[in-house]
Amino acid sequence: MEKCVLCNTTDSTEVVYRSAKWRVLLVDDDSWPGFCRVVLNGHVAEMTDLDYRQRTALMDVVWIVEQVVREVMQPDKVNLASLGNMVPHLHWHIIPRYRDDMTFPDAIWAPQKRVVLPDVLDARKKRLSELRHRLADRLILQFGESLTE
Ligand SMILES: [Zn+2]
Repeated sequence: MEKCVLCNTTDSTEVVYRSAKWRVLLVDDDSWPGFCRVVLNGHVAEMTDLDYRQRTALMDVVWIVEQVVREVMQPDKVNLASLGNMVPHLHWHIIPRYRDDMTFPDAIWAPQKRVVLPDVLDARKKRLSELRHRLADRLILQFGESLTE
């Protein structure tokens, strides 16, 4: 699996928290501030490849991330997506959505419908440091210190 893009996140996507089983990333995408990803560490393709306890544990992480994204980013809606068509490696996208974002109400991967006003986008980007810190705090509170790589 040396070609797996999720295992080789050498781009600027930032690991906010790492456990033995999963990690939480803050996706560095100028167009989608607050976009987070929960990635299972193992190579598992489908949620139903996990047993009940494992999949519940993974979703608990997704719920924590969604809650913090809501608190900090104040979106109109949160989108959760698990596609994984390119890589058999379970991961969840947690995406804050706004009525004025580029593709709303379609998926973020849909063709662009509009341009977000620069001031509006900047205001959202300014929340990212708080998002990063609050995510780390909440995950540490729940699961203990983050592992280092
Ligand atoms: Zn992988």
